[in-house]
Amino acid sequence: MKPQPNVNSQYARDLTYAFHPYTNARAHEERGPIIMDHGKGVFVYDDQGNEYLEALAGLWSVGVGYGEERLVTAAAEQMRKLPYYHSFAHKANGPAIDLAEQLVKMTPERLARVFFANSGSEANDTVIKMVWYYNNAIGRPEKKKIVARIRGYHGITIASGSLTGLPWNHRDFDLPIANILHTACPHHYRFAMEGESEEEFASRLAGQFEQLILDEGPETIAAFIGEPVMGAGGVIVPPKTYWQKIQAICRKYDILVIADEVITGFGRTGTPFACERFDIDPDILVLSKQITSSYLPMSAVLFTDAFYQPIADNTAKIGTFGHGFTTSGHPVASAVALENLAIIQERDLFGNAARVGEYLQTRLRSAFSDHPLVGEIRGVGLIAAVELVADKASKRSFDPLGRLGAYFFDQGHKRGIIIRNVQDSMAICPPLVITEEEVDELVKRFGQTLDDAL
Ligand code: PLP
Repeated sequence: MKPQPNVNSQYARDLTYAFHPYTNARAHEERGPIIMDHGKGVFVYDDQGNEYLEALAGLWSVGVGYGEERLVTAAAEQMRKLPYYHSFAHKANGPAIDLAEQLVKMTPERLARVFFANSGSEANDTVIKMVWYYNNAIGRPEKKKIVARIRGYHGITIASGSLTGLPWNHRDFDLPIANILHTACPHHYRFAMEGESEEEFASRLAGQFEQLILDEGPETIAAFIGEPVMGAGGVIVPPKTYWQKIQAICRKYDILVIADEVITGFGRTGTPFACERFDIDPDILVLSKQITSSYLPMSAVLFTDAFYQPIADNTAKIGTFGHGFTTSGHPVASAVALENLAIIQERDLFGNAARVGEYLQTRLRSAFSDHPLVGEIRGVGLIAAVELVADKASKRSFDPLGRLGAYFFDQGHKRGIIIRNVQDSMAICPPLVITEEEVDELVKRFGQTLDDAL
């Protein structure tokens, strides 16, 4: 254990009292916490005064960067006026109404209404329940299965964690639950067959999806859910036509298309929403993270009028829609979201993400393509991953458990950069406000981190 200056230090008390999410608890006892103290722009500082370039924007989420005073003011003003009200049973509040309108107007055409929750996981639980409720409402009680993807990430609650297709989110938690299926991951570099083009690979995966539907019975498949670009599964950018092919199959069998844009929403891929980039016309859209730049918890589920109407009819039949959170449509979170969206618009952060995103993608490729440890560099806009390999030619991984990735995660801290490893892929997803000069600094610090391992 690291030396502890005094037993009442934050460091010691964290070790004594806290159990951290997504953490190897025994390793934590050995190395202790890094206690973050404050941040400014793309940088955060720990309690020892060390500076880190936050190359993952917290958890893919602090779009406007740290220390944005306008969000503090928006929160404080709303707290003074109306710190809390709920949205149950006909209650509403101004900021939540304004935000609902703004989201409907800025997202893909057919999306007509919003349901608010607090986290991406809660939003995806809401989606599953609404899909089931909808199919019950229209007299299709057998059409309940939802197809997600291997390596997809949709959260960690019992239902959303079941959608997630990563082994550590299932193992020993007794997940997934029934009615959730997983189809193949569209990662060409890892899963294409010898000599298979991206287009052929996309067609093969679409064929597998269709076969799964036919095997299960189309009358049992309710929805397909996917992140336009997979995030936590390793920043997987699908082949160009992948989504069109998947979507066409969904339409053929009357299967709802759910786009989980919890990471990709609000400019991350260089367009306001990744649905635009990949030509996705979703029936349901899930948003969170950058909606408030994560200054406060907030998530939103948007859906079409065609999806809404039978649900609304059913609430009249039953007497209520028996689902909702104490803090759904929280006025302070809504006020922060509105101010966050105003900043994004005024500072043209979608445009910045497109421009600086191009620069980031180019710089990463020119700096690291020939690096002996690097197998693939992938990404779009301001989201990228650098996959490390033991052997470039055979693409052999160092270690399927990602221990090397974990080493780089730690080593990055020493070099003043926070990146996140997903197995052996290092994810990069900086705040949308990042400049080209800061990208140069990111590339420099990341390069030092890589070279440390040679
Ligand atoms: N969906 C996607 C695409 C995500 O990336 C995440 C979190 O990273 C979630 C859902 C879950 O969000 P939360 O951690 O807020 O529950």
